Amino acid sequence: MSRIHLASLLAGVFAALAILAPPAAAQQAQRPAFATTKVAGTENVYIFRNGGHQAMFVVTPEGVIATDPIGYGRPTGGKLYLDEIRKVTDKPVKYVVYSHHHYDHIAGGQAFKDAGAVFIAHKNAGRRLAALKDPHTVLPDETFERFRTLKLGGTTLELSYLGVNHSDSTLVMRLPKEKIVFIVDTIPVGQVPGRGFIDIDPLKTETFIKKVLEMDWERMIPGHPGPGDRLGTKEDARNMLAFMQDASAEMQKLAREGKCWEPAEKEFKLPKYESWPGYEAGLPFVARRYCGLWGRGT
Ligand SMILES: [Zn+2]
Repeated sequence: MSRIHLASLLAGVFAALAILAPPAAAQQAQRPAFATTKVAGTENVYIFRNGGHQAMFVVTPEGVIATDPIGYGRPTGGKLYLDEIRKVTDKPVKYVVYSHHHYDHIAGGQAFKDAGAVFIAHKNAGRRLAALKDPHTVLPDETFERFRTLKLGGTTLELSYLGVNHSDSTLVMRLPKEKIVFIVDTIPVGQVPGRGFIDIDPLKTETFIKKVLEMDWERMIPGHPGPGDRLGTKEDARNMLAFMQDASAEMQKLAREGKCWEPAEKEFKLPKYESWPGYEAGLPFVARRYCGLWGRGT
């Protein structure tokens, strides 16, 4: 085949691929800014998504248990969330539970506060929020240290603190009857972790994921949508644990050769995970965190 023929053939193939796969921007444009969906197979568990964040809420005959207001940078985000709940039920929102203390998940709860909800968070979240006094974030009314059970209208929601991981205030929220957990940021579904990795405790997070795997659940609602909006599974949790262990071992090797921060961060590659969404964008943050651990002891 002549070079010209090959070039025109390739051009045709690329044109066909472009038609088959619209650019990411076009796909983004088709996606509504926010959405409320009932979790398949449940009678009363919902996901409210606003942009790239999502929260779980549970509707019972005696009221609603909501979680994270996800209103950071969205002044009307909390009210929008409450309005979405109102479309499902007219029962009062009794509780708002914070997944952890990071503002991108918990800012914007004033509309819930005005509606009379009781805000619950881990003790460390309460301490941190009280110190920083963010004007857009409602302080928790009640905090706890290890475990708390919320019972409302026939639904049980267990709140567990399993130690430091992505933050020192992350709760595992578990619906035992539905075998669903809501865990935010620590176990991304089917993708390489991004910026949020920068301040995690890597070794304690491995312990945390092992504890989560020992719990009885089948599906995980993540704080950021998974690929195609799918929920997480134990397989996803095992994959994330393996990813972290592989990343840790790779950077430990480079660090002990005296290569942190440079040139280790440039050399750091994990070819096994190249096909995961977010590989290119997320890897520098993963590298930086493990260089901190193995290169500096932090
Ligand atoms: Zn976070």
